[in-house]
Amino acid sequence: MASNVLAVPAETDPALPLADRELVLEHAASLILDAWRSFDRARPEQPVPGERQLQLLRAPLPGEGSSPRAALDAAADVLDVSLAQARPRFFAYIGSSGLEIGVLGDALMASHDVNVATSAGGADLLEAQTIRWLGEFLGFDPAAVGALAAGGTIANLTALTAARERAVPGCRSDGAAGRRLALYCSREAHYSVRRAAEVLGIGGRNVRAIPLDGARRMDPAACAEAIDADRRAGVVPVAVVATAGTTLTGAVDDLHALADLCEARDLWLHVDGAYGLPAAATERAGGLFRGLARADSATVDAHKWLYVPKACSVLLMHDLEALERAFSHEESYMLHGGRSLAVDHTLEYSRPLRGLKLWLAFTVHGADAIRHAVQRNLEQAQLLAALVDADPRFELLVAPQLSAVCFRHRAPAGIDADMHNAALAQAVAADGRILLASAELDGVTCLRACIVNHRTTETDVRAIPAVVADVADALLHARTADGAG
Ligand SMILES: *Cc1c(COP(=O)(O)O)cnc(C)c1O
Repeated sequence: MASNVLAVPAETDPALPLADRELVLEHAASLILDAWRSFDRARPEQPVPGERQLQLLRAPLPGEGSSPRAALDAAADVLDVSLAQARPRFFAYIGSSGLEIGVLGDALMASHDVNVATSAGGADLLEAQTIRWLGEFLGFDPAAVGALAAGGTIANLTALTAARERAVPGCRSDGAAGRRLALYCSREAHYSVRRAAEVLGIGGRNVRAIPLDGARRMDPAACAEAIDADRRAGVVPVAVVATAGTTLTGAVDDLHALADLCEARDLWLHVDGAYGLPAAATERAGGLFRGLARADSATVDAHKWLYVPKACSVLLMHDLEALERAFSHEESYMLHGGRSLAVDHTLEYSRPLRGLKLWLAFTVHGADAIRHAVQRNLEQAQLLAALVDADPRFELLVAPQLSAVCFRHRAPAGIDADMHNAALAQAVAADGRILLASAELDGVTCLRACIVNHRTTETDVRAIPAVVADVADALLHARTADGAG
């Protein structure tokens, strides 16, 4: 037989030489360990990309390869000058904390690279078990089924696709056929609800932003009125989207009351708990989520408050049929293997075993440790709220229900408070000791800290008002100096 009919020499194969693998793996492990060590302590400031990194990042496409150790070093160097949400004083947005066992789960997952879209054997069972565990952990349903998704945005879209098919059977094939559809959610619901309405042909304008009650929850009576008014006008309600932990203030809608009104109106109730739902597992906040089990579907981002690295969102349901009705279809090239279950349940096709990191987190740490970490974050938010409330330099805007705290620094007379707090947010970011978000609440600009990190300590929390006051002093001082000069 002719040897070497292929013209491309095997030495150029993109594979690590056997002899190098162990060394490279050890080196990668040491870089990961360095990162973990640096996350253990707050760092004094956030470095920005310098000349070394910028030069590297301007380099043209390499034709030839180079040392994997050097390349990994370069990658770690770039990551080190990037904002790591895993750091304990990252309070901006709603971070993910890169739980160590989750990081290893991701590496293991990627090395096997199973595709959950095709029947993947053990991996399918593991993902189904993870979903059941989470359903039990949250008090949604110990027999929960559902799907993993790249984020809360996709999980919400997946649930609402199923809701649309239930509200208008055949909609996936025929379109809305002239019918007008609508969704109902809190005025402070996440933007992804509107995004879903846009993508699903419901129309962003047909998302009814329901007014809030005194606790910043969607007003159930106003929601019922909006639904009934729409029905009278011939509009087809698709679903009520309850928010279990708004992104802005952590308000949890009254799930029980919303389940009542959905039941009475035969309407889908979806709970967007992307951020807040893990608190349902705690003693401290569990009561806020009463009625959760009655929802048709619920979204929770494990990559937010269950600490695992992105991307790991879970859509929980009680039965899969509604998802099958929305997504199942037959693929001729798959007939030999019988029907692929996974492909029938979600929007995505090829996808990784996202559940593994959460499975590992529950297995290694146990549900109680995770519950306690969430409860600690809740207590830390109460501490921050108390610190801010007791300090005349600050103003607490809302009593936190979960772990998001919105507050303002009081501006001295003659200085616009909104402009002052917007400038302060920028100055705090530039200072780099802590990271906060700036937000708008009832038309005023404020600072917002969200505590969803298992690494965050009480000292880290106490640093928030201390650093903000410090930066504010410097800012006002500079302004006075400017004014004087
Ligand atoms: C973060 C968030 C989302 C979006 O989740 P992603 O994972 O960022 O796509 C949706 N809803 C709420 C309430 C959120 O806080």
